[in-house]
Amino acid sequence: MERSKKDADVIVIGAGPGGYVAAMKLAMNGKKTILVERDKVGGTCLNRGCIPTKALIHCAEVLDTVKNSEKTGILVDSFSVDMKKVNAYKDSVVKKLTGGVSYLLNKRGVTVINGKAKFLGPKEIEVVLPDGKKQKLSADSFVIASGSQSAMPPIRGIDGKNVITSTEALDFSRLPKSLVIIGGGVIGMEIGSTCAKFGTEVTVLEALPAVLPMLDREVASEFARSAGRLMEIVTAARVEEISDADQMKTVIYHMEGSRKEIRAEKVLVCVGRKPDTAGLGLENTGVRITDRGYISVDENCRTSVKNIYAVGDVNGKTLLAHAASAQGILAAEKICGRDCGINTHLIPSCIYTKPEIACIGKTEEELKKEGRSYRVGRFPLSANGKALAMGETDGFVKLLTGEKYGEILGAHIVGARATDLIGELVLAMNTECTAEEIVNTVHAHPTVSEAVFEAAEMAYFGQTVHIV
Ligand code: NAD
Repeated sequence: MERSKKDADVIVIGAGPGGYVAAMKLAMNGKKTILVERDKVGGTCLNRGCIPTKALIHCAEVLDTVKNSEKTGILVDSFSVDMKKVNAYKDSVVKKLTGGVSYLLNKRGVTVINGKAKFLGPKEIEVVLPDGKKQKLSADSFVIASGSQSAMPPIRGIDGKNVITSTEALDFSRLPKSLVIIGGGVIGMEIGSTCAKFGTEVTVLEALPAVLPMLDREVASEFARSAGRLMEIVTAARVEEISDADQMKTVIYHMEGSRKEIRAEKVLVCVGRKPDTAGLGLENTGVRITDRGYISVDENCRTSVKNIYAVGDVNGKTLLAHAASAQGILAAEKICGRDCGINTHLIPSCIYTKPEIACIGKTEEELKKEGRSYRVGRFPLSANGKALAMGETDGFVKLLTGEKYGEILGAHIVGARATDLIGELVLAMNTECTAEEIVNTVHAHPTVSEAVFEAAEMAYFGQTVHIV
């Protein structure tokens, strides 16, 4: 009786890479699916995160290539940057992708409703539509994929003018002459290096002793050495106040017991993100929340209420778009009554800086802490033909393999094409492939992927052809 009254089999809340992928998978498996999104289809990733930043990074790289073309014999007489056109390029990429996702959702038969969803109970939501009208919807199952938003730390003056988050930094109509970035994490490094390449004077203030603190130390040091040529990186600097002075911002920080300050036209705050659960009405469902405010889920992304799942940033497991999509598939399969083979424990990290960084598995520091016996295979890109031809010789591939069986325990790459190279190593780890099996696999020449092969040779044989 109740079944005939429901509006859908499944309602998905949030159309980012977690939600839209879950919705499509559900519809592809015959479930009547409604996707509710209060803003634009594509979520943070497509509209305000991964995709627009990568489009801007591409533009900054084109500029870098033009500026440094002389050594390749290409002489460019004059060039200039038109930020309006740069932004138009970025917006066109975003539009193409979000349009593509909307098209696919439509073709798959997912009903997309524009509005803000709030749970009234574990099987019912109310959606506030753009015109203010309210619509009640019921379903057997729900997938919450409401994402996250920039966290603002309790720093005095943080709500002042010209203090921005990554969202505003993606829409500079005129680049600031100077920019102070609070937080040397992923966002700080990606936006910092992009703005620096466009000519902004960038200073990064990081509270911890090193930037990108989650990385293998060797990779982080190589990155800091290289990135230090582009921007000023100040570590062990805890920001305490931001104030105004003569149209400029003054950022006050503490370092080694003394009070210091720095001035800039704008201040970018990127000290992490927080789950977007406000107004969702979770209190009407019984869904449990962690101490840090994320939705608590099990290994199948199921919440404490059995017909409600939570995928992506909102569950706080891994704040990455590809993790959200993988979890979306996992939850969809579970709702359809199937087990899913996706290994959501093996999530690669990619950072789109210059040089790029990509990693998977354990860092060397973690292996040492665990007392594991391991081997290190390292190969520098300065000895790789393709990297040399591209003029991008900073960096290396580092493989950590088990002492006894040679299984890949961790892979860390800093340098050209790192974010593409990591794919082979994720597959290697997921299929429990060894360094020997990588060594026995022919890698095409000339490619940067040969550096993966040679790092595996170093781990397996302790030597390789192209370095002595
Ligand atoms: P983050 O957690 O990566 O880094 C924040 C940094 O700010 C930390 O290193 C922290 O020590 C520092 N910090 C905190 N308070 C400070 C203070 N008062 N003064 C100085 N430093 C301070 O956060 P983020 O860079 O904002 O990124 C948010 C999330 O988005 C992350 O989970 C990240 O993985 C994800 N993201 C991923 C990508 C990618 O995969 N390429 C890109 C963008 C964002």
